[in-house]
Amino acid sequence: MSISSMDKIMALAKRRGFIYQASEIYGGLNGFWDYGPLGAQLKKNLREAWWQDVVLFPCGGAPGPSGEPVRIVPLDTSIIQHPRVWEASGHLGGFSDPMVDCRETKARYRSDHLMVYAPASGDRGGKPLFCFLPDSPSEQKQKKKAEKAFGEVITIPLGSVPREEFASVLGPDAEKVGSLTEPRAFNLMFKTYIGATATEDDVAYLRPETAQGIFVQFKNVLDTTRVKVPFGIAQTGKAFRNEVTPRNFTFRSREFELMEIEFFCHASEAAEWYRFWRDTRMAWWKSLGLAGENLQLREHDKDELAHYAKDGAGTSDIEYRFPFTAPGFGELEGIAHRAAFDLTQHQKFARTNLEYFDAERGELLPNGSRKGEKYLPHVIEPAAGLDRGVLAILCEAFTEDASRPSPELMKIHPRLAPIKAAVFPLVNKDGMPELSEKLYTELRARFYRSGLIEHDVKQAIGKRYARMDEAGCPYCFTVDGETRESQSVTVRDRDTGAQERLALDRVGDWLAEKLGAP
Ligand code: ATP
Repeated sequence: MSISSMDKIMALAKRRGFIYQASEIYGGLNGFWDYGPLGAQLKKNLREAWWQDVVLFPCGGAPGPSGEPVRIVPLDTSIIQHPRVWEASGHLGGFSDPMVDCRETKARYRSDHLMVYAPASGDRGGKPLFCFLPDSPSEQKQKKKAEKAFGEVITIPLGSVPREEFASVLGPDAEKVGSLTEPRAFNLMFKTYIGATATEDDVAYLRPETAQGIFVQFKNVLDTTRVKVPFGIAQTGKAFRNEVTPRNFTFRSREFELMEIEFFCHASEAAEWYRFWRDTRMAWWKSLGLAGENLQLREHDKDELAHYAKDGAGTSDIEYRFPFTAPGFGELEGIAHRAAFDLTQHQKFARTNLEYFDAERGELLPNGSRKGEKYLPHVIEPAAGLDRGVLAILCEAFTEDASRPSPELMKIHPRLAPIKAAVFPLVNKDGMPELSEKLYTELRARFYRSGLIEHDVKQAIGKRYARMDEAGCPYCFTVDGETRESQSVTVRDRDTGAQERLALDRVGDWLAEKLGAP
């Protein structure tokens, strides 16, 4: 897919009420997006699919590596936490993202986002290195310049360029060489004030991730439920990052929603739980229709790993090939072995013992019981972006077919489709609307928990089908001239356009089976 297909997806998303620019009538706000009626329902369906498959019925009842059912409990923690939480987590201190400023253009970039075109031969011959921001106009512009200077070029991260060579780097949009500063620590958290006085003592932050709320409540969850390690705590919720260059539609926003699991286990079992979650989460995205070549699992190299994951069992990303990253991929979900980093930090900063007492470990006693073992559990964290998930679903669903009355259609997986079915009378007369209204009312009463059911009587039938195709509605039931006589309707499949006849009294069960609904 090319960039122009992304423009088409964005146009459709706006036109059909999936996603709008936030504060659009005021000219918009960079990095913020609103979900329209169809988008809000799609997002809710994806969040609920996650909740069902993670919290209510983890992994469809399949056992984890220990052979026991996977245990997960939910949580819902505050967006604003005690500021010390962010000191302990490293967000306020030395682990903040390094930023690079351009002295000439005044642009600021995240250091780990910048790449450089360098000569394949390794010999610059006194010429500059050409720095660019992937997926921005600077990428092509700098590539041309680099190829002119060196012939064959390779790309390397700016982070791998030695500091003393920064003076020879041409910034992404700069005219003069050497305008980029060295990377400097900078945190992406939004600052706010608690209470009316708004002094520096009242500073607080909007959470940049939901994970820390989970670690901070780890002890309470242990003390108030009957969970035993290994178990997970899951939550969904908004996160805020003051991204330096929000871009690519909702992909990099400043306000977004996360769906995170912190799975606690004994250090000796971390490697197998890591593999289990990596594979389970990959299979989950596939089950929602991201099943083709556009989805991949990528294990991180050691030098890419975050501070908390350096010595762990590994980190991998589930990545989707978005139109704006193609032929490359963009992260959808990260699965990281965080070891005992977070609990260790909070134990230290909050001066509270967060150790878990595991009665089933330790030395075997003469009476056949165990002595027990105290430890800080290790954590495997599958952290998925809900907004990036919705975007991947929209990109995957977008299909062009010039031979159809609806040249653009959205093949959204039925489980996620915001509109589950539509009911039409073929024409708005001859008793048909009364029959279709009755069917609509019945279906709505039965399926409202799964999503929307629509009734539409206006316009030519082809136009109504086309509208539903664009909205991603998988099934349309039409009452026609034969319905009264034969007590049957037609059902049209969105993806093939094929129609078949179905007895009126079977419609509900037929739809339930297709949607996997009760
Ligand atoms: P990136 O490298 O793209 O900034 P990250 O590695 O910082 O992402 P994590 O901290 O692992 O991201 O966050 C978990 C998930 O949150 C990501 O997989 C992604 O789906 C989502 N996410 C992160 N940043 C953003 C953002 N600015 N806008 C939308 N979603 C985001």
